[in-house]
Amino acid sequence: MFQGLSEKLQETFKRLKGKGKLKESDVNEAMREVRVALLEADVNFKVVKDFVAKVKERSIGQEVLESLSPAQHVIKIVHEEMIELMGGATGKILISSKPPTIILLIGLQGAGKTTHAAKLANMLKKQGKHPLLVACDIYRPAAIKQLQVLGGQLNVPVFSMGQEAPRDIAKASIAHANQNGQDVVIIDTAGRLHINEELMGELRDIKSAVKPHEILLVVDAMTGQDAVNVAESFHNELGLDGVILTKLDGDTRGGGALSIKAVTGCTIKFVGIGEKMDALEPFHPDRMASRILGMGDVLTLIEKAQESFDEKKAKEMEQKLRKQEFTLDDFLDQMEQMKKMGPLSSILEMIPGVGKQAKDIKIDEKDTAHVEAIIRSMTTEERRKPVIIKDSRKKRIAKGSGTSVQDVGRLLKQFEQMQKMMKQFSAPGGMGMLGGGKK
Ligand code: GDP
Repeated sequence: MFQGLSEKLQETFKRLKGKGKLKESDVNEAMREVRVALLEADVNFKVVKDFVAKVKERSIGQEVLESLSPAQHVIKIVHEEMIELMGGATGKILISSKPPTIILLIGLQGAGKTTHAAKLANMLKKQGKHPLLVACDIYRPAAIKQLQVLGGQLNVPVFSMGQEAPRDIAKASIAHANQNGQDVVIIDTAGRLHINEELMGELRDIKSAVKPHEILLVVDAMTGQDAVNVAESFHNELGLDGVILTKLDGDTRGGGALSIKAVTGCTIKFVGIGEKMDALEPFHPDRMASRILGMGDVLTLIEKAQESFDEKKAKEMEQKLRKQEFTLDDFLDQMEQMKKMGPLSSILEMIPGVGKQAKDIKIDEKDTAHVEAIIRSMTTEERRKPVIIKDSRKKRIAKGSGTSVQDVGRLLKQFEQMQKMMKQFSAPGGMGMLGGGKK
């Protein structure tokens, strides 16, 4: 995400930092570079112009040029203005006090509506809601099927009436939700390749039939400025409550994310970062700005960890670590919990200072699969007491897991080192990483 932009801005700021005291010409030079970086990232031309003017005006003030670390000050201003640019969204669905809350998803074909209808249902279900998915994309029979399959995977009911008129399906779905205790209705609509009157007419019809609480536009981030234009048209025609920006995982430039709010006035509420059902994140402009500027996104990381880790298990694990009873089984368990947080590369991107390097680290998900296979090929005793694993056992385990004896040896070595490290941490006077010292 945003690699090019992020790299360029960080280079510019690094040069600025090297200068110590800043002159007006230094700021001007840096802002020229920022301007180019933003344009190359496909940010809307007018947005870039306003942005640079604002940052420049604030940066050339006395306060900055005479401050102790002027470069830091400039970066702070860029950060603040970037938040302002994308600002305002809360990344939340406003739940109506009178159920069901009705969400209408609209957008062009292929933007990710069906996928995101399901992702939203998944998210809301985790929050304790009872969503109903509604198939109003009547032109593509495959779309109905796709929604049914996703609903089936998530255990979320899907309402469909074949090729009936979309407005009738939508209306009937609300009655259905009322009868069946579903408190959120998510309506997936048909898209078109381009915006046209037929599409707008159909969406207006659905809108007047069900009066949605939220009309969310689904747009593909990879289409850059087209995404911004699409958002503008839909907003003018139907009045949007927010945008879901999809495929941000494949968007290396980031122009859409940085321009949509400024151009259309519509806030981005969520971002899609992958094809899997949990690849949906609330959009936080402040965190996004931090990621772009290489400051990491620790808050999202913590939230993901909280979502994925089971507190009771974490406590048990802590006890085991203290007593040095951490086994290979526990190691496997930890790996599974980590996996729930999403792809490792996207986790790494959120760690301050790592962001930039993360793109160079090719994490082979196969590696973790190997580790799992190796541990699963061990007996219970071996997992508890890996010291008993000598050559013949190594051979057997390698064979059972489809790996090599070296792979098994490497894993055992790593585990041994980990145990040593843990011993240091949990020793009295250790680093107290495990929280609160000895009880
Ligand atoms: P629709 O025509 O708007 O309903 O689009 P779909 O939901 O069918 O999505 C079109 C394609 O984009 C599918 O292959 C999805 O798997 C893919 N897709 C959707 N959202 C994302 C995303 O956030 N990231 C990635 N990488 N792919 C996505």
